[in-house]
Amino acid sequence: MAFLEIKGVHKEFGAFQVLRGVNLDVIEHQVVCLIGPSGCGKSTLLRCINGLEKIQGGEIRLEDDRVSGPGIDGDKLRQNVGIVFQSFNLFPHMSVIENVTLAPTKVLKMSRVEAEAKAMVLLKRIGLEAKAREYPDRLSGGQQQRVAIVRALAMEPKLMLLDEITSALDPELVSEVLNIVRDLAKQGMTMLLATHEMGFAKEVASKVCFLYEGVVHEEGPPAQIFGDPKEERTRAFLKRII
Ligand code: ADP
Ligand code: MG
Repeated sequence: MAFLEIKGVHKEFGAFQVLRGVNLDVIEHQVVCLIGPSGCGKSTLLRCINGLEKIQGGEIRLEDDRVSGPGIDGDKLRQNVGIVFQSFNLFPHMSVIENVTLAPTKVLKMSRVEAEAKAMVLLKRIGLEAKAREYPDRLSGGQQQRVAIVRALAMEPKLMLLDEITSALDPELVSEVLNIVRDLAKQGMTMLLATHEMGFAKEVASKVCFLYEGVVHEEGPPAQIFGDPKEERTRAFLKRII
């Protein structure tokens, strides 16, 4: 059984159908990379999975529990599913440690002492413990994005969704963020990531899914998708970006 199951998911914005029956499975401890042209619905799909967007059809299940549709506990869903966006989205008026401890203290009702101790362990792991009392605008883009990842990890999620998390970074800062994702993959974190970093996808992905015209048009192991795509559309897309 898949850890995350996306079955026939439909999403529309007014008359515009973005997702037209997306099927996608993520097995526990796997890293699945979602690729596809800009505007194909990668971000929308990730936002649907953690309940930031409502779906109009189909079903999303996490550990065999339905997490889409009426009656869903949004707080519980967001505890289990961490998301990191392209634009770091740290709270600018809060220090690094305040950013990281906010959800654990507010949502999990963790004591401040415990939340800070856990946050420091995480910050140490990414080499930013010395920045705990700094405000986001004093950090580089790469550092901010690493804090954003740690902020999501502080909730001890079962699944991490990463939405083009290196796209807004200067090229020299990309690797420090990808290194963290690589470490998470090694530790067995289940992840679904939208990415344009094809080299990275090739390296870490258990499976690559090509989203096109509202459906998963082709999926397979990275060696097959990048080396021998079956579908003409996949081939054309990869030719344009590699
Ligand atoms: P991707 O992440 O693959 O670039 P998105 O999921 O951001 O694609 O967007 C898919 C399509 O849905 C785009 O055409 C975008 O303009 C549209 N879209 C996204 N969010 C909204 C929204 N809140 N309202 C209307 N249209 C939207
Ligand atoms: Mg996007």
